[in-house]
Amino acid sequence: MKTLLRQAVDRLHAIEDHLTVRTQIAAAVAAMSIVLVGVLAVGAAFISYRNTSALIESSLAGIASSASGRLDRFMATRQQEMKLFAELQPMQAQWQGDPAALRSSLEDVQRSFSEFAWIGFADVQGNVVASTGGLLQGKSVGARPWFKQGLDRLAVGDVHEAVLLSSLLTQRANNEPYRFVDIAVPVHDAGGKLLGVLGGHLDWNWASNLIKDVEANDGNTDTRLSILSKGGMVLLGPQKETIRYGGDELAAIVKAGIGTFREADDGQQMLTAFHVGRGHRDYQGLNWIVTASQPASVALAAAMSSAQTILAIGAATALIALSLAMLVSRRIASPIIALTREADRIGRAHGPTMLARQSGSAEVVQLSRALRSLLRRIGLAEERTKEAELRATENAMQFQEDMLRLRQLAETDFMTGLMNRRSFLSVADDAVAFCRRYKRQMATLMIDIDHFKKINDTHGHAAGDDAIKSIADIIGQSIRTTDKAARFGGEEFVVLLREIDQQTAVLLADRIRTSIESATVRHGDVVIPITVSVGLAMFDESDRDVQDVIERADQGLYVAKKTGRNRTFLMPADDERAARAA
Ligand code: GH3
Ligand code: MG
Ligand code: MG
Repeated sequence: MKTLLRQAVDRLHAIEDHLTVRTQIAAAVAAMSIVLVGVLAVGAAFISYRNTSALIESSLAGIASSASGRLDRFMATRQQEMKLFAELQPMQAQWQGDPAALRSSLEDVQRSFSEFAWIGFADVQGNVVASTGGLLQGKSVGARPWFKQGLDRLAVGDVHEAVLLSSLLTQRANNEPYRFVDIAVPVHDAGGKLLGVLGGHLDWNWASNLIKDVEANDGNTDTRLSILSKGGMVLLGPQKETIRYGGDELAAIVKAGIGTFREADDGQQMLTAFHVGRGHRDYQGLNWIVTASQPASVALAAAMSSAQTILAIGAATALIALSLAMLVSRRIASPIIALTREADRIGRAHGPTMLARQSGSAEVVQLSRALRSLLRRIGLAEERTKEAELRATENAMQFQEDMLRLRQLAETDFMTGLMNRRSFLSVADDAVAFCRRYKRQMATLMIDIDHFKKINDTHGHAAGDDAIKSIADIIGQSIRTTDKAARFGGEEFVVLLREIDQQTAVLLADRIRTSIESATVRHGDVVIPITVSVGLAMFDESDRDVQDVIERADQGLYVAKKTGRNRTFLMPADDERAARAA
């Protein structure tokens, strides 16, 4: 169960991620309003249905009670009339007088009150003395209940079929048997002596007319009225003379006096209202029950229709709410959508960029402000990073330059700017390897200033330095860029000449020597005459390394010094031994 719930929630979250804010707001507002409107509409429809049906029920009860009241009033009036007639002063003489005259009086009464089918006077023995139409005159009604009761008091008998009169009265058009309600009144003389019983049979037809009248007045053609005896038997209405209600049902009706209930009749739901007659003034009443029935579908149609109208209004309201929800959601979501698009665009853009200000709600304004501030910070950070990168590159370049300078310093003779011994030997080694491998020619010169000590002694150490620098300059200018010159210490120089034959090397060495000889070396105002001696050696295949060549050049120098200075001497590889001997 729990996992199912969690799965459902996860599923909902997954769906949520695919729905736009706009859809979500619209769906939420729409669902909320539909639920609210739905609850309200259903509630209102229910209340309206209940009230309208209560109204309809009470109106139906009103019909039943009105019919019942009219019945009771009618009966009360007839009873009053009979009583009045029996006690009428002018009638006192007639009760024991001429039966013909009495009959005429009785017939007068019947004419005035046509509902009486028969009016008759019976003496205390039950013999009919006089009657309307002379019917039953001379006959005994002593056994009839109305007579027996009438001897004692004013009595009203419930509906019954005509017994004695049934054959005497004229047949009705519809062949229906006569049914009577009896009213019996004891008749006394002036002295209070009982003379007999005045009896009247009310034709039950009047009740039927009254009911028809009420039904016609109601306007609802579906309303059916019935009159039931207090025993629950149908006196008038459908299924006459059958017991319609009995037992608890009847007891409940009698107890309530007035009310409504629903019942099934022939498979049809009926709404039935009832009213139990309780008499009117002197009239005790027979406790007739008047019922008014309507098919529930007809009776409650109005209630149903009002409920339906309310539901329709509810549905229309929900539709309006739905459209409003869509409008509102569009309004609320549009700044967020704009922000999202902007942010997406910024994500793809190169370089610093800014977000347009958005408005629409406090949150959106705040979000827009926060994003703008964030972007400003990002822009600043980007600039700083770039600056730092630039600085790092600059530093790296500076470092490379420094390294280069340091290397140059390490490889250069400080005073003259020529190569120093260490760097020269490394280059010369490579050159020797190259010559050996490719069978190329190479020469080495060893140059030493003549009588340098004297210069130092005569002009001072600084003058000596100047002289060294001047000689270095002359040597540097005399050689090609592929050739290398180095100061080996003191006033001694070594030159490496590449790709050169012996003849050219001798020429070049001597040109250097003569250049120095003819140069004007100054120290202050003093011109110092300078000459050099040069030892020359060509690379030979028998040389193990550059040191061998340099040593041979040094031997050549030695020879040049020995043989008078300011000259060049080529020391041949073969003559090494001979030279050493010299
Ligand atoms: P020679 O013709 O035989 O070469 O005679 P020389 O006097 O030149 O003799 P040598 O080459 O042996 O002399 C070297 C002198 O050079 C010794 C030293 O006093 C001087 N000297 C060495 N280095 C320097 C230097 O850097 N500056 C100066 N001013 N003098 C130096
Ligand atoms: Mg020297
Ligand atoms: Mg010297």
